[in-house]
Amino acid sequence: MVIDITDILYKEGASMEIDLLIPMEQIRLLDKRIHVSEPIKIKGTLINENISRLYFEGQAIITIQAPCDRCLRLTNKQIKIPMKKFFTQQLIVEKENDEEIYPIKEHTIDLLPPIMDEVLLHTPMKIVCSEKCKGLCTHCGSNLNITQCNCSENEIDPRFESLKSLFSKDKEV
Ligand SMILES: [Zn+2]
Ligand SMILES: [Zn+2]
Repeated sequence: MVIDITDILYKEGASMEIDLLIPMEQIRLLDKRIHVSEPIKIKGTLINENISRLYFEGQAIITIQAPCDRCLRLTNKQIKIPMKKFFTQQLIVEKENDEEIYPIKEHTIDLLPPIMDEVLLHTPMKIVCSEKCKGLCTHCGSNLNITQCNCSENEIDPRFESLKSLFSKDKEV
């Protein structure tokens, strides 16, 4: 996602609006269960702070798709990521306040590396189709959002047996 910044590169205080879509094919996530299901929307402003430094301030909107952690239904989640990213013409790029600074190369910047860094940082480990999702029965595999199986009433996971007695004790008090 290379952007030509010739127009603002030598004008201190100059800015340009950024409003673009990054094709989802360009994004690869480490977790193979999760993939990007819509183009990433990037919107914001690129500002020339001084002769050697620019920054992009705006947001990225990413939609990811993954199986629900409880019932396995494919679920889309939209994540809004606020961004402020610096770019520099200096040959030696140093980290500043632990913040990565990205290079300006021949009047262009590449927005993809900072966006990828943010996406990796903000991708959740797990997503659920709904906070109320009941998940799958651990005995018969029925989707408890759709059907009510009989296992849950008859069998109790031994790990919960002690909890159950705790609760019934509470009630007696
Ligand atoms: Zn679910
Ligand atoms: Zn069941």
